[in-house]
Amino acid sequence: MSLVLLVEDEREIRRFIRQALEGEGSEVREAGTMALGLEAVVSLKPQLVILDLGLPDGDGVDFVQRVRSWSQVPVLVLSARSTERDKIAVLDAGADDYLTKPFSVGELLARVRALLRRGRPGEALESPMSRFGRIEVDLARHVVTKDGQPVRLTAMEFKLLSVLLANAGRVLTHRQLLREVWGATHVEHTHYLRIYVAHLRQKLEDDPTQPAHFQTEIGIGYRFQF
Ligand code: CA
Repeated sequence: MSLVLLVEDEREIRRFIRQALEGEGSEVREAGTMALGLEAVVSLKPQLVILDLGLPDGDGVDFVQRVRSWSQVPVLVLSARSTERDKIAVLDAGADDYLTKPFSVGELLARVRALLRRGRPGEALESPMSRFGRIEVDLARHVVTKDGQPVRLTAMEFKLLSVLLANAGRVLTHRQLLREVWGATHVEHTHYLRIYVAHLRQKLEDDPTQPAHFQTEIGIGYRFQF
């Protein structure tokens, strides 16, 4: 059974989320402030943290940075309209995914299942082989094939692909992707990403205009979906 820590100050939302997650067989613990949430991450060692950005006592970025200094526990962020701007900063700090309020039970459970399945995000993939659609990627040999036929990727395209694959299911911000692939001096060059993601879609998606795997998170970044 997975233990989920819910850091949220609104009792109604806590009840809604608790009921949904317990219905799926998770155990839920609650904290109403950032300070209590941080203590609970330490003492309970949850498998997932759901963090509301609109808490009375704190800053979600600070919370995630502190947690990330010792733990890779997945963090799903809840943002209301008033905290929408903070969402990118908290994803940059190392949160894994977000939901914008109001959200449905279905959306919540889908995100939670994906994060619990991933376990520890950012860790090395278990196998160098990844498959999606008609594509097979060999990360060890740097070989990509489509229906068994080689697909040529440039070194940068391959690097972007491997970062996205290693973080499958997770939202990566423009800044994170630019830093990982091009380096810290290029974090403002969002147009690189537009161009390279378009190349990957062109080469690897069945229908590049309706991408099934290389998904845009508007205003935030990208997410790779198997
Ligand atoms: Ca709140």
